[in-house]
Amino acid sequence: MKLNLVSLKQAVGSVLDFDFKQENVELDLNREDILFVGPLRTKGQIENLGDRIYQVTGQIEVEAKALCSRCLSATPISLNFVFSLKYSDIVSESGEEDIIPFFGDEIDLYPKILEEIVLNWPSQILCSSDCRGLCPNCGANMNTTDCKCKTDNIDPRFAVLKQLLKSD
Ligand SMILES: [Zn+2]
Ligand SMILES: [Zn+2]
Repeated sequence: MKLNLVSLKQAVGSVLDFDFKQENVELDLNREDILFVGPLRTKGQIENLGDRIYQVTGQIEVEAKALCSRCLSATPISLNFVFSLKYSDIVSESGEEDIIPFFGDEIDLYPKILEEIVLNWPSQILCSSDCRGLCPNCGANMNTTDCKCKTDNIDPRFAVLKQLLKSD
């Protein structure tokens, strides 16, 4: 995911398009809930804004497999979001915070793209919107198993209903 800026640096306002695709992505996180990430597609453009500042804007599309937050089964997810980054090859003394420094005529987008993926990772992943999760007693997957302890764990809403019926 390297951008060569030799021609872009020639003129303020010039633009360079890019479209990268990567099959396997090493997210390098200590997260057991993320099984696999890839393919990853990053497309967009970089523009010479002047003052040796270069702005990257684009879109990230990524497929992944992660564990369902309720039942822990492997669940395919796809993320699709836009991003914007600013790079500069002069170290500014004022230290403008959101400008990423680089050296030479090349920018490697990859490390920042990985950060963007982590930032946009969903906080909850569900295999289906009505996933029943795991039995709190025996740990069985309630989507696929009717465990013996099912009758002991009456839904609180049904318990209320039962009370109402009894009071009659
Ligand atoms: Zn689930
Ligand atoms: Zn059970």
